[in-house]
Amino acid sequence: MTRTEIPFFPPDLFTGEDRETFLRLLHEIGTSPDQRFILGSRTRRFEDALKDATGAADAVACGSGTGALYLVLRALGIGPGDEVVVPAFGCAPLAAAVLHTGARPVFADVDPVTLVVDPAEAERWVRPATRALMPAHMFSVTADMPRFAELAGRHGLRLVEDSAVAQGAVIAGRPAGLWGEAGVYSFVQVKSFGMPGEGGMVVTRDAEIGRRVRMLRNHGQDGVHRFLHHEIGVNSRFDEIQAAFQLHRLPSLAARLDRRAHIAAYYTERFAGLPGITPPPPGRDGRCFYVYTLLAHERDALRKHLAEAGVATHVYYPLPLPGQRAFAPYAEAAQPGVRWPHAERAAAHHVSLPVYPHLTDAQVEHIADAVCAFARR
Ligand SMILES: *Cc1c(COP(=O)(O)O)cnc(C)c1O
Repeated sequence: MTRTEIPFFPPDLFTGEDRETFLRLLHEIGTSPDQRFILGSRTRRFEDALKDATGAADAVACGSGTGALYLVLRALGIGPGDEVVVPAFGCAPLAAAVLHTGARPVFADVDPVTLVVDPAEAERWVRPATRALMPAHMFSVTADMPRFAELAGRHGLRLVEDSAVAQGAVIAGRPAGLWGEAGVYSFVQVKSFGMPGEGGMVVTRDAEIGRRVRMLRNHGQDGVHRFLHHEIGVNSRFDEIQAAFQLHRLPSLAARLDRRAHIAAYYTERFAGLPGITPPPPGRDGRCFYVYTLLAHERDALRKHLAEAGVATHVYYPLPLPGQRAFAPYAEAAQPGVRWPHAERAAAHHVSLPVYPHLTDAQVEHIADAVCAFARR
């Protein structure tokens, strides 16, 4: 067998025409007489493009996906004394963005197969201090937003949607990001609409939330009067070169997402019924294949087998969030003695395979063959 080397993250993210375009935009914006590098006309056009693509009332570009989550929570008035229910399994910003507002995260366990936060578990943690629910879409599966919307309505809670990885997904006819009062997208390099730098976007159905996020992202200024600060904001602004580059790449995003979904569907078909392997559920509704993540009974042995076959894999979250040193003291104070068994199991058994759109069919087949060979050995 000839040895292939398939990295987990593509080393050639921006090739050919994209790279040429990036250099042209760099030169154009760098030498333009107005010398405007942040929050200019290109950022506004990029915001409008995502507003139109999703049907949002407003889209506000900001410094990162993490920044976007923080800005949304602040715009909703969440702060000291409040609790926000977040998934027990997921990325650090879910807990950190809440803590940065002065509020407290309360962790809810996830579904054992889809790995997204379970609405019934989230409801278990609704108590008098609860102000908001913040479900997150994970890997390739979106949270059950119709149920979270119903839950938020029934308990009078705010609903924030961490859709950082789900740009382009549609859940029961509505774009991911628009189920919550506000959602976020991330454009950090590794995301499906990643770019060569940092950036994020808030999308919202509520123009007033958009207006508040716009102020907070730029030190509480209203965009009309400079150096007048209406409230304490942050620096979470957006870069003009990146905005121009993302505008250039937006029309081809759907095709790249489609290729990812096609690869994922092939994996899921090949992995059906394999002993010791649990692939994500099949289907396209509410799905976005940022990452293809499966559960493996012998996860570490599978990773070793794949590495020997030249296939790099990735383990995202080695611990549930409340088990992380940064967040454990808050979990112990607010949820003493609680365990999150599905999050613990997910942390121990999940592994992600390469799914980027420019994998060749031969590479995709090689990856699937290697997983099947391990399971049937
Ligand atoms: C990547 C990610 C974020 C944070 O986005 P950044 O742009 O890296 O700050 C937030 N939530 C989820 C679910 C993510 O995957």
